[in-house]
Amino acid sequence: TSTISLDQLIAWLSRFRDLVTEKKSYLTELDSAIGDADHGSNMTRGMGAVVEKIGAAPSTAVDELLKSVGMTLVTSVGGAAGPLYGTLFLRMGVSAGPVTELDGAAFGAALRAGLDGVVARGKAEAGDKTMFDAIDPALDAWDAAVAGGSDIAAAASAALAAAEKGRDATEPLVARKGRASYLGERSAGHIDPGATSSTMLFQALADTVTS
Ligand code: ADP
Ligand code: MG
Ligand code: MG
Repeated sequence: TSTISLDQLIAWLSRFRDLVTEKKSYLTELDSAIGDADHGSNMTRGMGAVVEKIGAAPSTAVDELLKSVGMTLVTSVGGAAGPLYGTLFLRMGVSAGPVTELDGAAFGAALRAGLDGVVARGKAEAGDKTMFDAIDPALDAWDAAVAGGSDIAAAASAALAAAEKGRDATEPLVARKGRASYLGERSAGHIDPGATSSTMLFQALADTVTS
């Protein structure tokens, strides 16, 4: 198909909740190497609250849904990831507007606005070993696929492949943002937890739009 419906966005978020929950221990293991061992519980708690909230108070428009997701993450998750993921969804909602579906270009623009919000808040640049390093190349791949005429499913699989590559490329990097940066050179040799959870955003999307 060439659009993503409100129901598909809800399925995407629910699948993201499932993936972070399944990989909770792995995310925590990654964060125990270069952080404070809470990324798995942060993401699981936050996305659990999100799925509960959107089930209890159904949204009738994309902006309403995504703003509610963002607010729930900001209020239910402490540390870095809660406000950063919260900002991503809040800004994504503002960009999407009061519509009931998004075409590929609009979805890409909304996620890009979300990532711009993450950068405005956390100042991450490429190569700082953060979630940015997975999301930014994924959005470039998404945009290129959509511009080249790909449907949503093909764009999602291109974005996923790019996110995975960006995630894996964080391993040798020395962290320059967040808690991991306190470790200096010792942060090298470990994959970034946030780049790993944000790759799951694209895994969840690929799972949702192809099924
Ligand atoms: P905390 O570090 O507060 O315990 P989490 O463990 O939940 O929070 O999240 C850590 C992740 O947050 C990191 O792996 C990194 O990807 C991301 N992160 C941290 N600081 C920033 C930042 N300034 N910009 C972008 N992402 C960041
Ligand atoms: Mg942590
Ligand atoms: Mg923490």
